[in-house]
Amino acid sequence: MLPSKLKVGVIGAGQLGKMLAEAGSPWNIEFHFLDVNEAPAQRLAYSYVQGGLKEAKAIRELASRCDVLTYEIESIDVNTLLELEKEDKEIIPSPKVLSIINDKGLQNNFLKFHNIPIPAFYLAKDISENITVLKSFKGENVVIKSCKGGYDGKGVEIVSKEKAISGYNPFGTDNTLYEECITDMQEVSIIVAVDKKGNYVTYPSVAMEFDPKINLVSFIYSPGGFESALENKMKEIATKAVKAFQSPGLFAVELFVHASGKVLVNEIAPRAHNSGHHTIEGAYTSQYEQWNRILLGMPLGNTDFICPAAMINLIGPENGSGAYELLGLENILQIEGVYVHLYGKKESRPGRKLGHITILADTKEALFKKAEKVRKEAVIRVL
Ligand code: ADP
Repeated sequence: MLPSKLKVGVIGAGQLGKMLAEAGSPWNIEFHFLDVNEAPAQRLAYSYVQGGLKEAKAIRELASRCDVLTYEIESIDVNTLLELEKEDKEIIPSPKVLSIINDKGLQNNFLKFHNIPIPAFYLAKDISENITVLKSFKGENVVIKSCKGGYDGKGVEIVSKEKAISGYNPFGTDNTLYEECITDMQEVSIIVAVDKKGNYVTYPSVAMEFDPKINLVSFIYSPGGFESALENKMKEIATKAVKAFQSPGLFAVELFVHASGKVLVNEIAPRAHNSGHHTIEGAYTSQYEQWNRILLGMPLGNTDFICPAAMINLIGPENGSGAYELLGLENILQIEGVYVHLYGKKESRPGRKLGHITILADTKEALFKKAEKVRKEAVIRVL
């Protein structure tokens, strides 16, 4: 039986929190959110703590209002969460996961230690004479990453090897990770759900297309259309990576799948992910319902897709900020199997995620055709 009043506290009240609360609504879960200002999930909140995501007092206040805590953003006060966990507060995923993931250098070392395939890398602070290592990386370019504080591609630069060799280091010696630049690859995400007993399930692969200008996911679809041996290999690697963290939770494992069939882990998000929005309508159990199931200690749900599904992000255009409208809505809503999600953000900013559209179709070909039509119609216009 479902507990009649399970109180879930969520740090961050963005669109992921909003969709978590939408999915929890049929089960009468009470959601308590913490965020700095007004945010998308606020309208669904049973109670709202207005405060900083790194403010210990605000996090403790939220914790006092709920049975279980979770987070929809990584940039939060991990130390307070570690203290709360020691005080027996249930936090899913464990904040220990965050303390690794929040530093790309630590994350890479952790994954390497657990024999998870990742791109060749080194940390600037570990090597003073780096020319030999840089030269050993394949390709003409290298990827320079800020270990801490990056998100949505901010804090990642792809530069020529020569530039790196000449000492270019935009993030400071203590905070820089150099990685081999993987080319000729497809970016894929595999979402892995782990319940409190350690059972796990994986979603089918999601192929992702990025907007090269703003480095944000712009179009995704599932199943990714890989042959089954490769699909299984991706799931195996993603599961192995997630299991290494030894924590319940919903995890999105971002992979680079090279044309040769080599699979490398790029990074892991310990929460619902942009690459899983289309599971709301496309899969038997959405990533958000799955997250609720994990928080409640319920059995994990079926991750299969009911039919091929795609998702297009609605992103704030480059040419301005402020109030906005979605053009084409009337036309889009006349297409069968198209679902519009708006996050309720009052203002558009360049690159800001304002909503998404899920598209369902019987075949991959029909899906791409329909998605193209929707992509042309759906335009965010700043007023
Ligand atoms: P963020 O955490 O900001 O999303 P990522 O580490 O995922 O940053 O990098 C953002 C994007 O940069 C990736 O989605 C990918 O397109 C590109 N990228 C990152 N690392 C590599 C790499 N080693 N080789 C090639 N491209 C990479």
